[in-house]
Amino acid sequence: MNSALLPNYGHPDLEFDHGRGSYLYTDDGQRYLDFAMGIAVNSLGHCHPALVAALTEQANKLWHTSNLFRIKQSERLAQNLVRQTFADRVFFCNSGAEAVECGFKLIRRYHYSKDQPQRNRIISLSGSFHGRTLATIAAAANPAHCDGFVVGDGGFDQVEFADIDSLRQVIDERTAGIIIEPIQGESGIKQVPGDYLGAVRELCDQQDIVLMFDEVQCGVGRSGTLYAYQHYGISPDILASAKGLGGGFPIGACLTIEKLSVTMTPGSHGSTFGGNPLAMAVANAVVDEISQDKFLAELAANSDYFRAGLAVLVETYPQLLRGISGVGMMIGLQCLIDSMELIARLRDNKMLVVKAGGNSIRILPPLNVARAEIDEALEILSSVLETW
Ligand SMILES: *Cc1c(COP(=O)(O)O)cnc(C)c1O
Repeated sequence: MNSALLPNYGHPDLEFDHGRGSYLYTDDGQRYLDFAMGIAVNSLGHCHPALVAALTEQANKLWHTSNLFRIKQSERLAQNLVRQTFADRVFFCNSGAEAVECGFKLIRRYHYSKDQPQRNRIISLSGSFHGRTLATIAAAANPAHCDGFVVGDGGFDQVEFADIDSLRQVIDERTAGIIIEPIQGESGIKQVPGDYLGAVRELCDQQDIVLMFDEVQCGVGRSGTLYAYQHYGISPDILASAKGLGGGFPIGACLTIEKLSVTMTPGSHGSTFGGNPLAMAVANAVVDEISQDKFLAELAANSDYFRAGLAVLVETYPQLLRGISGVGMMIGLQCLIDSMELIARLRDNKMLVVKAGGNSIRILPPLNVARAEIDEALEILSSVLETW
């Protein structure tokens, strides 16, 4: 049936007809508790009324004009992000990888504009994931993603996760920037320690190295703050955002500071669809919703509640589960049993989660998940583990 598609995604059978809040429905009426959320994309659940309203209102007015013309909605979203973060300027694109690529370009262009074009190498951490374009796979250097695609090293160096000595050894006169996921997603929800980030920030300041955070997955409220770096009190020079920012509508954003942004002169970079009115209308609605008083406080309380329940499961089944990780609604569950099998059995019991590295699963509820839905997830998990 799907033989006309590239085989890169395997052959999933399960298909959904519609979604509402935390649930997905098949066309024969089966209901699934969706704690995968399109891999941390549907930040406010499926078909949130405010997002549907923003999208349909904009769809009836104007879809696309390109950046040859002023787009007020993109100015509003940029201003909103600037007001709430370290950033002075924002570039909009359509995906996480594009947001990361914009950051890489900013890093290289900064040193180039200072007459140091030889400073062009970018360092990334082991276990990271930055997207599937040529530069972003070269950055993460995961052989499963790179083999047969990347020529040479693409201009990237890799260092050990959260190991400051490993970083010191690799930095040289060609180092232009460092990219870090403050909370790694694909590798299994691994949080970078704050003292490491502090030491990296210091190194960067001393040596004029650009520090970039990839918050494509952990950003936009997912970790309990608008962006995860805000937990640490350590600001990057560049931040890539995407996934949850559009609540399910494709969007990417690259946030940066004045010093770097001035190198992006007219004509230096662009995107046909970047900043389009539809994406901007939805993302503005997402950020407005998350920025409301109490939204993140409620998320934090629900996260504590969920984690406490998961901790009980880990205690009850020490032969099946190794532990939990992550913050906010970005939760990793490390398994002793086969995590793929756990995902399959949860799916049989109408609950969806995502695979991650290190034999773990990612549990990614909508940020506005209800207590009753958390209880339902804990019950399904408990019943699956009980009969393992
Ligand atoms: C998903 C992801 C990306 C890539 O985003 P795409 O929209 O798939 O291009 C980049 N970095 C991180 C941390 C991600 O989780």
